Amino acid sequence: MNKIRIGIVGYGNLGKGVKAALKQNSDLELAAIFTRRAAQSIEIADEPIEIVNIDKAVDYTGNIDVMILCGGSATDLPEQGPYLAKMFNTVDSFDTHAKIPEYFKAVNEAALKGGKVAAISIGWDPGLFSMNRMLAEAVLPDGKEYTFWGPGVSQGHSDAIRRIPGVKGGIQYTIPVDKAIQTIRNGDVPELTTREKHIRDCYVAAEEGADKAEIERQIKSMPNYFADYDTKVTFLTTEELKEKHSHMPHGGFVVRSGVTGENQKTRQIIEFSLKLGSNPQFTASVLIAYARAVYRLNQEGQAGAKTVFDIPLGYLSGKSPEDLRRELL
Ligand code: NDP
Repeated sequence: MNKIRIGIVGYGNLGKGVKAALKQNSDLELAAIFTRRAAQSIEIADEPIEIVNIDKAVDYTGNIDVMILCGGSATDLPEQGPYLAKMFNTVDSFDTHAKIPEYFKAVNEAALKGGKVAAISIGWDPGLFSMNRMLAEAVLPDGKEYTFWGPGVSQGHSDAIRRIPGVKGGIQYTIPVDKAIQTIRNGDVPELTTREKHIRDCYVAAEEGADKAEIERQIKSMPNYFADYDTKVTFLTTEELKEKHSHMPHGGFVVRSGVTGENQKTRQIIEFSLKLGSNPQFTASVLIAYARAVYRLNQEGQAGAKTVFDIPLGYLSGKSPEDLRRELL
């Protein structure tokens, strides 16, 4: 059987994760990596992989079955998503939740024009978490849903710390509040404030002579990012920061607490949780499963943008429907 030929677009954390995860999926193979940078600036040890400038993607329409788009959501994907969906089946991890409807529209128009399938906002949130929020709501219409993130690194909050004058390096962990979680697991359905759900735990390396008290004040009072949370700030050296805080763990869980029965008194709780050693590596693994699905959908003649709500689960698996029924039902 021919392998599904994959192109990686953008070679940052996620792009590297996709390259690694492809090795665990024998029905897919890497055809080329597309980047905006000069090919020689991309270092890939000991592997003969074709590195292509993204402007040349158009020359590869017959050679790539699915492009996995690994650019950032803020500025890369709004441009690259619709552009590439005209020419290729695509999968991306667009995660600016508020802008998903407009992004869907732009990608859908392009994919329909090109007769391609584009899976958008794939990953874990949006992605597997969205799927579980929807599933739990459909099964338990009378209930309340909560999403907790962490413990894990928030890139956005870490960037915000690093922009403060006098900060040399910094990282922020989002940590769910245990008390809130236990309350929900015990069957209560509280209205929780932002502060009651998550703690923000910051590790900062300051420049020599910088006013640490002022840095801490600026972090804790930063609107939208930290002011509404209980925020902890710990100072350490650049070496300590590198040594102890250079991984990208993440995770969290989606929980829905609902009631059923004639008197709506029977408590039912659905929970889906992730504990991730590496956010980009895990997200990459999700993207790959969806690349397989996108390819199959397009082979069946489908076109247009899709989200996790639109793609049948069985299409994600490399196994046949018969094997799935026998082994996993
Ligand atoms: P990165 O910042 O590592 O990479 C983004 C892009 O930056 C790359 O594709 C690359 O494009 C470009 N880039 C420029 N210079 C460099 C350089 N020196 N080294 C590496 N990359 C460079 O972002 P991530 O890969 O960590 O994340 C990408 C996106 O994934 C995030 O913006 C987020 O939207 C999404 N995401 C979604 C999740 C979900 O659950 N849905 C979970 C995690 C992430 P080029 O090669 O063209 O220069």
